[in-house]
Amino acid sequence: MARRTLLALLPLLLLFGCARPYERTAKTLGLPKDAVSAAEGRAVLEGNGHRFEFPAGIRVATVDGTRYYLNHAAGQDELAEADAMLLRAAVVDPAPLRPRPAILLDPGHGGKDIGCSVGKNAEHAIAHDVALAAQALLQAAGCDVRLTRAADQGPTLQERVDLAAANPPDAYVSIHVNAAANPEARGVEVYTLPLPGCDGTNANAKAWETPLPGQAHLPQATRLALCVQRALLRAPGNPEDRGVRHAHFKVLRDVPAPAILIETGFVTNAGDRARLASPEGRRTLGFAIALGVLDAFRR
Ligand SMILES: [Zn+2]
Repeated sequence: MARRTLLALLPLLLLFGCARPYERTAKTLGLPKDAVSAAEGRAVLEGNGHRFEFPAGIRVATVDGTRYYLNHAAGQDELAEADAMLLRAAVVDPAPLRPRPAILLDPGHGGKDIGCSVGKNAEHAIAHDVALAAQALLQAAGCDVRLTRAADQGPTLQERVDLAAANPPDAYVSIHVNAAANPEARGVEVYTLPLPGCDGTNANAKAWETPLPGQAHLPQATRLALCVQRALLRAPGNPEDRGVRHAHFKVLRDVPAPAILIETGFVTNAGDRARLASPEGRRTLGFAIALGVLDAFRR
């Protein structure tokens, strides 16, 4: 080829040699290059049966239709490498999983600590009933299921961590009920730890400095959180999607296994409370949690 022709092609080569916005992220996520489309400050990546939306400048993203908080705000041109790698391991390319996992269900509070409450509706009892329903369905599906406490017990957080550490499960699932001063606040949220060095998603949730035991299991915990959040949103009752969030809760920090903490609804909201108060509502929540866990262990 004549030198002049090569020179004429040079600008074109330069143009196509440069990565377009979010092309690098698509590669890290394990998606094809043509997965990326972008519209008005929002990157959309679609491929291999998954869809991600990353509005630039904020931490709130959408993963397969579910609200998900990133560890770093999405950039104009790409995600932080650590966020993309975590989503690849949790969503696109998960490690092979055990077919009959061991699950440790942790109903929050108990004993003298009743948790949050409105009238007769107290968190410790709601969480235990939800855990029993989840246990029944998971056992029927062949899982080995234990609970961290009986209905009338109130182990400390350290005792719960010790129980998990003595015989680490494939998944640790802590079940709680939310409360807020604003009676309009409603919906479900599922927590994992943030990545090392990253802040939590709630106010004043600053990063912890040392790597934490739970951070070794973040890909699987993230997979669990997304599957459980999606199952809770699919369950009857039209709950609001408050997203997969991040916090440094004790059980998430120190349980040496994939761990999530579920806020099943707001006892301070009339709509959520109706579901939390009734035996059917608690069963619905427990079954949804079990279906989400089973989904996470399926490929
Ligand atoms: Zn609680």
